Amino acid sequence: MPGSIGEVDVLQMYRETGALLEGHFLLRSGRHSPMFLQSTTLLQHPLYAEAVGEGMAGLFEDLEVDFVIGPAMGGVVLAFVTAKHLGSRALFAEKEPQGGMYVREGLTIRPGERFLAVEDVITTGGSVQRAIAAARAKGAECIAVGAIVDRSGGRADFGVPFRTLTTLEFPTYDPADCPLCKAGVPLQEV
Ligand SMILES: [Zn+2]
Repeated sequence: MPGSIGEVDVLQMYRETGALLEGHFLLRSGRHSPMFLQSTTLLQHPLYAEAVGEGMAGLFEDLEVDFVIGPAMGGVVLAFVTAKHLGSRALFAEKEPQGGMYVREGLTIRPGERFLAVEDVITTGGSVQRAIAAARAKGAECIAVGAIVDRSGGRADFGVPFRTLTTLEFPTYDPADCPLCKAGVPLQEV
């Protein structure tokens, strides 16, 4: 059971819910890694999701936001629980067939509204960037970006304050030089 955030070790929450996978994974970047964080597995538990949302909201208490937006599907629950604790609206952006993202009709965005964009784990930040672009296209202003985990190695830069509950550095390997491949550990796509 998660306690109030601040006491909660984020990695421990992933562990407790079986969301910290250990083995041999093919990452979207094409590199191999012995670890993977499956945030969907963590956030399916409302109590854990609540604790994460409370923690995320705590990182942005100093800012006034009209809404929180996350990229679907991974960012939907996170945006919701964060918005709940910030007292703002929760929106999501969806993938377009062309590769960008859009905000569907019915999710109201008024020009000039200020928003926080969130994503579970940020590696390159590409997905949250597309969600930001979708909200900006409706005239809103991104004032901050939040994530549960920063895996970018300090490379993520959104031009606005970027705050995360934790920072993790997992080793990743070039497939040609991967010790897990050499050891014959079966590779899983994630
Ligand atoms: Zn490998």
